[in-house]
Amino acid sequence: MESTEKNMTNYAEHTARRRKFQATNPATGEVISEWFPVSTEQEIEAAAVKAHRAFLDFRKVDPNLRAGFLESIGDEIIELGDTLIRKCVEETGLPEGRIIGERQRTVNQLKLFAGLVRDGSWVNARIDTALPDRVPVPRSDLRQMQIPVGPVCVFEASNFPLAFSTAGGDTASALASGCTVVAKSHSNHPGTSTLIASAIQKAVKKNGMSDGTFTLLHGPGKDVGIAIVTNPLIKAVGFTGSFSGGMALVNAASKRKEPIPVYAEMGSVNPVFVLPDACSSVGQEVAARLVDSITLGSGQFCTNPGLIVLLNTDHLPDFLKAAQQRIASISGTPMLSSAIKRSYDRGVDDLLKLPAVSELAVGNDGGTPWQGTPRLLMTSFQAFMSNKELSEEVFGPCSIVVVADDKSQILELAKSLNGHLTATIHGTSLDLDQYSELVDVLELKAGRIILNGVPTGVEVCHSMVHGGPFPATSDSRSTSVGTLAIYRFTRPVCYQDFPEHILPAALQNKNPQSLMRMINGTLTRETAL
Ligand code: NAP
Repeated sequence: MESTEKNMTNYAEHTARRRKFQATNPATGEVISEWFPVSTEQEIEAAAVKAHRAFLDFRKVDPNLRAGFLESIGDEIIELGDTLIRKCVEETGLPEGRIIGERQRTVNQLKLFAGLVRDGSWVNARIDTALPDRVPVPRSDLRQMQIPVGPVCVFEASNFPLAFSTAGGDTASALASGCTVVAKSHSNHPGTSTLIASAIQKAVKKNGMSDGTFTLLHGPGKDVGIAIVTNPLIKAVGFTGSFSGGMALVNAASKRKEPIPVYAEMGSVNPVFVLPDACSSVGQEVAARLVDSITLGSGQFCTNPGLIVLLNTDHLPDFLKAAQQRIASISGTPMLSSAIKRSYDRGVDDLLKLPAVSELAVGNDGGTPWQGTPRLLMTSFQAFMSNKELSEEVFGPCSIVVVADDKSQILELAKSLNGHLTATIHGTSLDLDQYSELVDVLELKAGRIILNGVPTGVEVCHSMVHGGPFPATSDSRSTSVGTLAIYRFTRPVCYQDFPEHILPAALQNKNPQSLMRMINGTLTRETAL
């Protein structure tokens, strides 16, 4: 009895001393009553140790069981029902329809990875059979496949509370590869993260996975995130957010005794080129589509088109008028946090202070405290080229129209760009003939090039690339959306002269999983002889 009382006292003291935090409702600006504990150093260490131990089992789990586990996470997320939707709307201010759609995208993403794991060929098995009679030197039997790297730290994105958060793309691809996950909740939506984590934990139990396969930690600010990234048991990091946040993690990871990869998606202006023949034939429709893309979700998409480049032709005024009218018909909606709102307003004000930058159009007042007011700015080619601020991301519903005088200026501007997630061209076949060099330039600048479309709306599929050269991401060789993302958390291993019964199933002669493999340079599902 005495010891129970003592424990209770210790617990109460511990709870009272514990650092806690609350989220805020962006639609009302009110603090939400629920408290969340900031993870302690001991909890971070315990999470890493559990993730490491669980990894030793999880990486060996049969692919069919791992696929079933991923699908089961999706089922448990749906089971959360309206509780999840209500909490997510409350913490993000995003409309219910958007959250319901994002939940489905998250579940579909898990299912897509489940299919990849079940098929198994993603391990990229390569077999070069022995050549014992080769002269002057015989060749050994060499077999290579991808294996998971170990526990992965996932940072959640504020602007995708489901699809890029607790059970989002990085978690799905890490678990699919056989890595365990320690996730750091985003301090804007800890309640949503906690609900999703409970769904993952249910799936862990139901599917007989080890404790530590997934852990959620909380911590606003830098300390908790940096402590996870610098824990020696963590082997890779996935991040979506600001340039400063992403680079802080890249720097912390590179200074470790054992540096680890950080896949940080950090920001992108997503240039759009409206070529002259398209401007004359469909310019007004293009202007309206672009404005809708700029203002979607209060402009809080990493693929938001923040730069529109056009030639100064007779059709430019019609394009600008159509864009102005469209912007003027749209009202501001809440941004995700007061910090993001402040940073947006400051970003627009700073641009408007630059010489030769003018305001082309402003949207309506949406009447909420943290609304992002739609804005369209305009400048000249010369001003764009001499002010580097004009090529930096302003996260929110704002875009800058840059007017060039001729083709050479358009190409010069394209060549001056940094790395972006996307680049878009609006052009007719005549334009594409005349501006063929533009595609060559943009290939080196972006992860995805879009023709006659808008960059917002990222399909989750096998061929998607949601990445791009620095500073859009810290590693242009990867994508955070689509099944190719699995390779950010794997590495190749080569087995030399191993007998059949010791080799992993994927590399055995008999090919028990019927995988597509490269055998002596030829892709085949055949057995290796
Ligand atoms: P953020 O401030 O970079 O935060 C993202 C995550 O990283 C959060 O969990 C945050 O912790 C953590 N974090 C940030 N800085 C850190 C540091 N120095 N050390 C360790 N951890 C750190 O991003 P955000 O809150 O989502 O939005 C802020 C700005 O990021 C926006 O205004 C926008 O410019 C940019 N953004 C860009 C994209 C994009 O896709 N391009 C998406 C979202 C945001 P907390 O949970 O404590 O905040």
